[in-house]
Amino acid sequence: MLKEEPETVFKRLFWQENVQHFDPAPARSQCTCSREKVGGMLKMLGREEVDSVIEERGSVEVHCEFCNQRYDFDPVDVAQLFVAKELSQGVSRASDQRH
Ligand SMILES: [Zn+2]
Repeated sequence: MLKEEPETVFKRLFWQENVQHFDPAPARSQCTCSREKVGGMLKMLGREEVDSVIEERGSVEVHCEFCNQRYDFDPVDVAQLFVAKELSQGVSRASDQRH
């Protein structure tokens, strides 16, 4: 009954392993980018840098290379980004003064 040559068995096992490798739909790694993260990146760039882009193009467009998602920040969005930053700094300074 079991007259298969070792080589045949090996090939069959190998083939099965390949099937296991290729059969499941490839899990697409989802990009973890978000508007919040892009906003944080713009904050890192600094207001002057972002403002100069706003002046030049009217808005800041960030294009994610991984998932092709586009994030547009108009002057209002940018202003909110940096206002929020200044507010949080102001709060921390105020609490420092209390001590
Ligand atoms: Zn992305």
